[in-house]
Amino acid sequence: SSAIVFEGVTKRYSDGTVAVESLDLTLPAGELTVLVGPSGCGKTTTLRMINRLETLSGGRLLIGNRDVMSVDATLLRRQIGYVMQHSGLFPHKTIADNIAVVPRLLGWDKKRIRERVAELVELVGLDEALAKRYPHQLSGGQQQRVGLARALAADPPILLMDEPFAAVDPIVRAHLQEEFLSLQRRVQKTIVMVTHDIDEAMKLGDRVAIFAQGGKLAQFDTPARLLSA
Ligand code: ADP
Ligand code: ADP
Repeated sequence: SSAIVFEGVTKRYSDGTVAVESLDLTLPAGELTVLVGPSGCGKTTTLRMINRLETLSGGRLLIGNRDVMSVDATLLRRQIGYVMQHSGLFPHKTIADNIAVVPRLLGWDKKRIRERVAELVELVGLDEALAKRYPHQLSGGQQQRVGLARALAADPPILLMDEPFAAVDPIVRAHLQEEFLSLQRRVQKTIVMVTHDIDEAMKLGDRVAIFAQGGKLAQFDTPARLLSA
């Protein structure tokens, strides 16, 4: 299983900032958990410890009962798709080539890559004519779709998303959120999403982890139970 378990996890940066303090949190496999809270409360640091873009200062972080600090970081990241606020696409690669980055690294043959790219373009709701274009020729919303397709390319069990809809305008955002919900129902991945938008958290999350200043977890529950409390 790909449940993600934080056991007393602390992150202190080298300048002494405590970004996350004694975090105990279990993110169930196959669910979408949203980390929400004000700027600076440790959401991104929490997310980035999962794919080891940040190291832990204390405690343990387990994925499927394996301690992430003891597994090879490259192998770990192959199991984990990562979508950032700004899509992070390679500007000199076409959309199709951006989506194919991980399959190429994995050595898939050309036919398999071509078929997978076509499948992903459809999955994330992009017009197939866009596949030959370059990132700057796409709108912000389209670029975020490409970022999502790239993260899903090798079908990782875990998907991390850092403010994936924050950089697009509100109408496009509402549309992307709806589509993302229906996509999640189909792919059933273990998803961890960071947002500062509590409405987005309540709308999308199977569970919502509310962080407070100082990197402390304040509440963790389903949206329904949080709203009835
Ligand atoms: P670590 O101890 O994890 O190596 P560092 O303190 O060396 O982290 O910082 C890593 C990077 O983060 C540096 O490039 C630094 O400029 C940047 N950084 C430093 N302080 C902050 C901050 N308050 N918020 C965001 N990024 C920061
Ligand atoms: P959030 O995602 O909730 O905005 P972050 O995890 O980015 O919060 O940051 C949590 C705290 O850690 C903040 O005080 C931030 O300034 C600090 N911070 C983040 N990255 C670094 C870094 N590389 N070096 C030092 N401090 C950092």
